[in-house]
Amino acid sequence: MIDCELLADCGFFQKYQDTLDMACKGFLNTYCRGEKMDECERKKYRMEHGKPPSDDMMPSGQMIPKQFR
Ligand code: SF4
Repeated sequence: MIDCELLADCGFFQKYQDTLDMACKGFLNTYCRGEKMDECERKKYRMEHGKPPSDDMMPSGQMIPKQFR
């Protein structure tokens, strides 16, 4: 499986790539390293705003709850 082209430059991936949280791991596997990488809301945000969103925004567009950051 091909990785997302933004992997090395993505704050979410860099911050959470070693997470043990299963939900978060699921995002990494389905978006960053999976078939939904082109549906990533972080990617859309970057294209719309010309800069990346907060590292804590998930590929789904929702924010990681504060207690998990
Ligand atoms: S969160 Fe989105 S932009 Fe970042 S590496 Fe994963 S798929 Fe790519």
